[in-house]
Amino acid sequence: MDRSRAQQEIDRLTKTLNEHDYNYYVLAQPTVSDYQYDMMMKELETLEAQFPDLKHPDSPTSRVSGEPTKVFPVMRHQKPMLSLSNTYNEEEIRDFDRRVCSLLEPGEAFEYVCELKIDGVAMSLIYENGLLQHAVTRGDGEQGDVVTNNVKTIRSLPLKLATADPALQNIEIRGEVYYPKAEFAQLNESRIAAGEAPFANPRNSAAGTLKMQDSQIVAKRPLRIFCYYLDATTETPLPVNTHFDALQTLKELRFPMNPNARLCRNVDEVIAYWQSFESKKYDLPYEIDGVVVKVNSFEKHERLGATAKSPRWAIAFKFATEQAFTQLHDIQWQVGRTGAVTPVAHLEPVLLLGTTVSRASLHNIDEIQRLDVRIGDTVVVEKGGEIIPKIIRVDTNKRPDNSQPYQAPENCPVCETLLVRPEGEVALVCENIHCDAQVSGRIAHYAARKALDIEGLGEKVVELLLENDLIKDYGDLYYLEKDAVAGLERMGEKSAENLLSGIAASKSKPLARFIFGLGIRFVGEGAAKLLAKHFHSIDKMMTASGEEIEAIDGIGDKTAASVQDFFSRPDNLAVIEKLRAAGMPFEEEVQEGSGDVDERFAGKSFVFTGALTRFTRDEASEIVEARGGKAIKSVSKKTDYLVAGENAGSKLKKAQDLGITIMTEDEFATMVGA
Ligand code: NAD
Repeated sequence: MDRSRAQQEIDRLTKTLNEHDYNYYVLAQPTVSDYQYDMMMKELETLEAQFPDLKHPDSPTSRVSGEPTKVFPVMRHQKPMLSLSNTYNEEEIRDFDRRVCSLLEPGEAFEYVCELKIDGVAMSLIYENGLLQHAVTRGDGEQGDVVTNNVKTIRSLPLKLATADPALQNIEIRGEVYYPKAEFAQLNESRIAAGEAPFANPRNSAAGTLKMQDSQIVAKRPLRIFCYYLDATTETPLPVNTHFDALQTLKELRFPMNPNARLCRNVDEVIAYWQSFESKKYDLPYEIDGVVVKVNSFEKHERLGATAKSPRWAIAFKFATEQAFTQLHDIQWQVGRTGAVTPVAHLEPVLLLGTTVSRASLHNIDEIQRLDVRIGDTVVVEKGGEIIPKIIRVDTNKRPDNSQPYQAPENCPVCETLLVRPEGEVALVCENIHCDAQVSGRIAHYAARKALDIEGLGEKVVELLLENDLIKDYGDLYYLEKDAVAGLERMGEKSAENLLSGIAASKSKPLARFIFGLGIRFVGEGAAKLLAKHFHSIDKMMTASGEEIEAIDGIGDKTAASVQDFFSRPDNLAVIEKLRAAGMPFEEEVQEGSGDVDERFAGKSFVFTGALTRFTRDEASEIVEARGGKAIKSVSKKTDYLVAGENAGSKLKKAQDLGITIMTEDEFATMVGA
């Protein structure tokens, strides 16, 4: 970008972001999503780095936003309460990890602590001689509002420390004050009933409550706190050297602690932690907007230091989410291949994170009742990362007068069988394994991309084959005759040929995909890989004892029991025998010297870009991973190889700029001996 264009952009972003800060921190009425805000901030940071002299003195990139309200007394923080730099993706968290490594000694070992990023209000708690003396908001990072009386209404917060240890009498504890989700919904309902404006989200209601002058009213609001920081306020050093130990100490001191903090040995474990909470976050009774990743050792914190805005030893690894209001037109129930009957919300289409959303997940009947969502309601939908959009709240303010509570169906919407709810489970289940929806679901799963990947066998074709009695289960696929298939409506000679060759090609797929395709309950892709690696044979898996299956690292008792159950059912055994007779390979060769490392791949990272014609992306990634390499999604300095298919675009350009080894798909095929 040329200088004058950069100047315009820097001016515009500075002005816009300062405006958003005011809306967010002062008015508590944000007008853009956090994701949009953070992307603008990143853009401004990049431009300021390229043109440092164009940076404004009031740039939002170099200060902790927010300010004391002037309604309360103000107090200066002993150490600044900083913000956190943030990222929304894996590649950038790896960059953070590399940055930390580069600032420490070469090869120096260290650990991370991952915690949930509670979406509330930061609070500093000053204990003097063992007693809570001051509770101060973050304010502008240097000084904040003293809201001690309001914070004292949080019943779980100790007013007196449960220790006589002299090193722990004068301390500062920091934590996040939050408003639990369920109570937030109730609060808004009562505000609406009283003719007041509802709060936009639980974070705003926590902030709004803390700013109230009357602690008696605050005491009626269910504010809570999770603590995550401990520091000494006098010269007496703390009896702990790491953040994780500090968290344990706080727990012993009876502070309310979030139970999900974990020690992670490396960045891969950090990413796994983040991924696991991307979906689990919906089940938590409080809002989180990501995870916070911190280097564990205090001594390393000192060495890594901080910028004016955020520490270099920590980062917020956020979930990209966006919310919008829309109308719920209908709830339809889908029958899955396992018989679970799940509700899907049909919505007035709305734009979220760049895609138009017209359906959302509602999970189960409990969720519908918890939200009290009704047809015709205006609902808040949220979309994050790859996850299917979800309804998170109802705007009862806009509820039609004649609306009725939603009633769950009693019968299967496909075969009319009475639905049951197995003990301890949340899903309604159709127990008729011959239910058309289950039969077609099982076959479609067998043919799916991550299973046997049978080209030309999508849901529609499965339906067509079933309707015309050409198949009853996936075992029958291998006995299809070309003429019969070609004679079907919308098929023809060529499609039939393609379908049969796709089915034949499934015989050369890896055993793990075959096992996954069988559709055994609880056996996902990961468990299928473990089972294939352990048994190398369907027959051995079929005859294995429960103990042997359970002994496989990574397989739990529920999965083991489900595998045994699957192979004990005569219906399933009949299908298995059809597959055997059709020549489906039941064994996989144990690779000689499979423990050996292929030096060309071990530890090397590969990025695939453009259209590949000889492999699917998944296959190419599997090949690399089976040889000890890593398949990653974006190009960085640390990428070893870029495999460029047709029409490769920006990743190819970036790899060229960074001087990364670039291969064609054919060269990759030669390298892997395909
Ligand atoms: P932040 O919310 O991204 O992260 C820092 C805060 O995380 C800390 O102050 C602390 O309160 C909190 N936190 C929660 N759990 C924690 C844990 N376990 N350990 C440590 N800290 C924890 O930073 P911020 O400065 O409070 O807010 C900036 C963010 O606010 C922006 O990145 C943006 O997403 C959002 N924002 C949005 C708008 C908007 O208009 N939508 C405007 C301004 C700011």
